[in-house]
Amino acid sequence: MARSHNFSAGPTALPLEVLRQAHEEFFDFAGTGMSVMEISHRSEVFMELAYQAEQDLRAILQVPSQYKVLFVQGGASLQFAQVPMNLLGDKGTADYLHTGLWSGKAIQAAQRYCDVRIAASSKASGFDRIPAVTDWNLNPNAAYLHYTENETVHGVQFAGAPCVSVPLICDACSSLLSKPIDVAKHGLIYAAAQKNMGPAGLTIVIIDAALLDAALEVTPDILNYAHIANAQSMLNTPATFPWYLTGLTLKWIQRCGGIEKIHQTNQAKAELLYRTIDYSGGFYRNSVQAPFRSINNVPFVLADTAFEKDFLRLADQSGFKGLKGHASVGGVRASIYNAVTLLAVEALTDFMKDFARVHG
Ligand code: PMP
Repeated sequence: MARSHNFSAGPTALPLEVLRQAHEEFFDFAGTGMSVMEISHRSEVFMELAYQAEQDLRAILQVPSQYKVLFVQGGASLQFAQVPMNLLGDKGTADYLHTGLWSGKAIQAAQRYCDVRIAASSKASGFDRIPAVTDWNLNPNAAYLHYTENETVHGVQFAGAPCVSVPLICDACSSLLSKPIDVAKHGLIYAAAQKNMGPAGLTIVIIDAALLDAALEVTPDILNYAHIANAQSMLNTPATFPWYLTGLTLKWIQRCGGIEKIHQTNQAKAELLYRTIDYSGGFYRNSVQAPFRSINNVPFVLADTAFEKDFLRLADQSGFKGLKGHASVGGVRASIYNAVTLLAVEALTDFMKDFARVHG
C-alpha cells in the first residue's frame, strides 16, 4: 500500500492504526452487524463509545471535574460566534489578542456581538511573534480574553497559557492534543478535530461549568453551551462517525504513551524542520521569532521565489502532499500534526536538502 507523506494543514493525516481499525470495523461495529454510521446515537453501544471518548480526552488532558466537555459541530469557525453569544453576559466587551489570520477571523466574527478590544497585536511586524505581555493592554472588565494558541497560517505559537484575571478563552484548533495544556487556567478551550484529533465534522469544547449561565438572549438553544451540556452533546443528532474516529485516535494517543510523549515527538519533528531551514545557507527562510515558532505548522519561503513552483511540483511527485502555503501568505507550509511521523519529516528534510543542493 502506497501511503503519501501528508503535510496538509487539515484535514490531514490520521494514524494508520486508527484507519486500519476503522477499516476492520467498518461493516460490523461491536458485534451489532451494522456500521457505526448506521446505528442510533442513542443506542447503548454508541452512548458507551461517546462516554469513553470523553473519559479518554479528560484523562489525556487532565481536565478538572468542574469542566464540561462538549462534542459539537460547525467547526472552530462557529465557535468564533458561539463564544461571544454564550459568554458575554451583561459585559458588552471582550479582549482579543491579534496574532495572525485565525485570531483575525475570531475578532471579525465577535464584532457582531460586542465591542471587541484588541489587547495586543503583532500585525505591524507581519505576525512574526506573540506580543510581549508587558505590551498587552488588558481590560479588567472584559467578559473574557480570547487567544489563538497556534496560528495555523503564520506558524506562530504561544509558549504557555497567558495569566489573566478574566476568563481565558483559547482557540486551540491546530494544537489541542499536540502538547499539554493547563486546562485549569482557561474558561474555555475549543478545537475542531481535523488537525490532531480525527476527521472534520466534530469540534471539542472544554468549558468551566461556572461560565454556563451568561448566554445572550438571542442564542439559539442548539448553540447554547448549557443546553448542550445538559443533553450530553446530543441535543440533536451528533456527528457520529467523526466522534467514533476521534475516540479511536484518543486511544492511539494513550497507546503512544500520552500527551507528554506525543509532545516530545512533535518537538523533535519541528526542531528537525527548523534546523533544516536555518542551516540551508539562506535557501529556505522562516521569519517567525524563535521562541514563538509553531510545532504544528512550519511555514517557509524559498529565498529565490522562482524555484517555489518547481519545489512544490517535485515534492508532490515525490509523495510529499499538502505543502502549498495558505493562499493569504503563499510560500510553503509543512503541517506536522500528531499523525505525521518523525520518519516522514526526515524524508521531507532529506528532500529539501537535495533540492537546495541542486538549485542553490
Ligand atoms: N482556528 C484555527 C487556529 C484554525 O486553524 C482553523 C482551521 N484551519 C479554524 C479556527 C477554523 O476551523 P474550521 O475550519 O473547523 O471552522
